[in-house]
This record gives sequence, structure tokens and C-alpha cells, in this order.
Amino acid sequence: MLWQGRRESDNVEDERGSGGGGRIVLGGGIGTVILVVLYLLLGGNPQALFNSQQAQLPQTAQYDPQAPQDEASKFVAVVLADTEDAWHAVFRQMGREYEEPKLVLFTDQTRSGCGFASGATGPFYCPEDRRVYIDLGFFNELQQRLGAGGDFAEAYVIAHEVGHHVQNLLGISDRVQAARRRVSEAEYNRLSVRLELQADFLAGVWARYTDRVKHVVETGDIEEAIRAASAVGDDRLQYRSRGYVVPDSFTHGTSEQRVRWFRRGYETGVLRQGDTFNAPEL
Ligand SMILES: [Zn+2]
Repeated sequence: MLWQGRRESDNVEDERGSGGGGRIVLGGGIGTVILVVLYLLLGGNPQALFNSQQAQLPQTAQYDPQAPQDEASKFVAVVLADTEDAWHAVFRQMGREYEEPKLVLFTDQTRSGCGFASGATGPFYCPEDRRVYIDLGFFNELQQRLGAGGDFAEAYVIAHEVGHHVQNLLGISDRVQAARRRVSEAEYNRLSVRLELQADFLAGVWARYTDRVKHVVETGDIEEAIRAASAVGDDRLQYRSRGYVVPDSFTHGTSEQRVRWFRRGYETGVLRQGDTFNAPEL
């Protein structure tokens, strides 16, 4: 992927090396973990737990607002800018205005508007604070453990998370969350899979737009994204439900389905082709 020398987004918040800054400080380390587990075992509402913890925390978020300095974060900022350009254009076509998400780079652990998160659980989007959270260590894992490295694979992961932001803006995530109260767990899981596959579709739309307008896609890039889509199946990329973070207990769809929807986005570039919720076949 040709990315050097291109526009970098201003929406990257670099919290790496902040030693926890103000965002983490759950305090208590393993003790807290045990308490949380006990609390959940006793049937506590995890949302209440996180809310009460957040309420006690000092609000001293101190991320570094400076422009990205190192190669990896510059790359993330360029890809984020690509998603901004693509989604501004697509939303304009729909007669709407795209609101850009922020992207938080963190190390090891962070506190999001959706609760506490650790890098081990993979990138995610939090609809509460409209932020994409990425621990760059995940990209190493993508390469080393899942054999799906490469800059375009990383770009695909970012575009997938931004896809969740697009779903949030379009009210799709809200509808799925609302359904959660009405439907069985199995049915909710089916809806979650469709939400995930649609985020893959939206990543495909981003890839198409970026390729058409900026001509930055190189030979092998799409295959790289597809490899990532299939490697990062199931529970690797976590969907965080509104209000709190839970270990991922459902699937993201099979690798084959993920590839199919990414491809469909890339080949059509038309949003109405991405209605995974009404597709008879995934
Ligand atoms: Zn996802």
C-alpha cells in the first residue's frame, strides 16, 4: 500500500507510554479482577460496576496531542484519513454529513467509554465515546501468530472498526442493541454476526473508494486484506456492546463469510448491497 507522504488524520489520540495516564487506574490489579469476576458470578450487572468505577476515577486523561512521530502511528493516521475521505464522500452522496471518529492508540490497557480494555483482546470500537481503540501490538500478533501481516491487512482492521462507527452513525448498531432486550441469546448472536459481516462489507467499500480515488492499492493488497479477514475470524476482533466490555462470546462469522462480504463491498461500493440483515444467505 502506498501511504507515505499522504495526509494524516488529526483524530489520532496517542496514549502509548502514558503509563496509564488518567484513563486506566482501575487500581488493585489482580484484586480488582477477582472482585469483578466475583461480582459477575453473583449476578451483578457489569454496567453498574463499570459506571461506579468510572465515577470514582479522577478525570485526568492526558494523552499526547502531538502529531504522530513514529512510522506505525503515522501509518494509522494516514489510513484513518483515508477512511475520513471515503466516508465523507459516501455520506455526501446520501445527503448526510459524516462525523469523524477518534482513534486511540494505547499500550497494554486503557479505559474506554465502554469500560476497561486490554490490548490482548484486540482492536474495538466504542459507540459510547465514538472512538476506535487499537493496541499496535495486535498488528504484530496478526503477522506472527495469524500469518496475516502487511500494511494493507492492518489498514483493513482499522477500516473494519471504522465500519462499526459508520453503523453507529446510521443507527444500525442501536437497532441491534435494542433487539438484544427482545430476542433470545441465539438470535442476538445471529444479529451480531450480521453486524460484523456488515463492518467487513464497509471495509470493502473503503478499499474500493481509496483504490479508485487515490490509486494506492498495490498488487497483492486486496489478497492481504482478505487474508486478514479470514485469519481474524471468530472472536479475535471483538465487538464491544454498549456500556461495558465483555469477553467475546460469539462468532464474527466464518472466514469464508467475512471474505465474501469484504469482497462484495470492494466490488460494488454501493451501501445497499451491504444489507447483511436481510440477506437470505451470508
Ligand atoms: Zn467488528
